Amino acid sequence: MTGSALIISDLRASVGGTEIVHGVDLEIRPGEVHAVMGPNGSGKSTLSHVIMGKPGYEVQSGSVTLDGVELLDLPTWQRARAGLFLAMQYPTEVPGVSLTDVLSNSEASADELDERLRAEADRIGFDHQFLSRALNVDLSGGEKKRNETLQLAVMKPKFAVLDELDSGLDVDALRLVARRVEAATQEDDLGVLVITHYSRLLNELKPDRVHILSRGRFVASGGPELAEELEASGYAGYAGEPAEQPPGAATAIDPFADPLGL
Ligand code: ADP
Ligand code: MG
Repeated sequence: MTGSALIISDLRASVGGTEIVHGVDLEIRPGEVHAVMGPNGSGKSTLSHVIMGKPGYEVQSGSVTLDGVELLDLPTWQRARAGLFLAMQYPTEVPGVSLTDVLSNSEASADELDERLRAEADRIGFDHQFLSRALNVDLSGGEKKRNETLQLAVMKPKFAVLDELDSGLDVDALRLVARRVEAATQEDDLGVLVITHYSRLLNELKPDRVHILSRGRFVASGGPELAEELEASGYAGYAGEPAEQPPGAATAIDPFADPLGL
């Protein structure tokens, strides 16, 4: 194994003056899939935005390194260039910019790019008519998620953060998209941090580790069985207690209560 890794250490970050991410540690190696699950408002999207450098977030402490390079010092485009990819929960619409425009920075010629885009679109059942549309404009939720997956497949980043890639996808599209990402972990050694609420995404995109985020902290980590357990019993018992505390020890805490405890 190479020394390649995406390493998050003691990351604390706030938005709008409130600390949302309260000290997250995570290490992802090439080819590994780490799933992050957690109730609404637990800070999953915030974590993904901070890793990618979306404006508006303030980092209090910690580091995020990709192959030893500190990403927190870099603007978003340089993080992308370093090999990081983020599929946002709510992909941004970019009028006037097509998918081909976005991807044409890569070394491939226009014809090669076109051919790869078409081949990848077929692989995830994405209609070719969307390839020339302005980025995410007038796409349904599910089409946006396929669009993100297509970019991932063509860009071939080293590490990808996928924030609810499954939301808006029907069962068939979900399977295709999850399989495509799983294939990238095997063919291209892609390392993945996948945020999801549902274990069905993880039936195809097989996690090595599952982490539960609650109130901005990981409160439990385990193997794939943890996702199954969550599907059955929900987040009760993982409502922000220290990681050492066994599940079930937390007494009657509503996981959907105000995550900030305000
Ligand atoms: P998740 O993705 O786990 O559902 P988020 O990371 O989207 O959670 O949100 C975590 C918390 O941060 C929520 O309480 C949310 O209201 C708050 N939050 C997110 N974005 C902002 C923002 N731009 N300004 C203020 N609060 C925010
Ligand atoms: Mg979210």
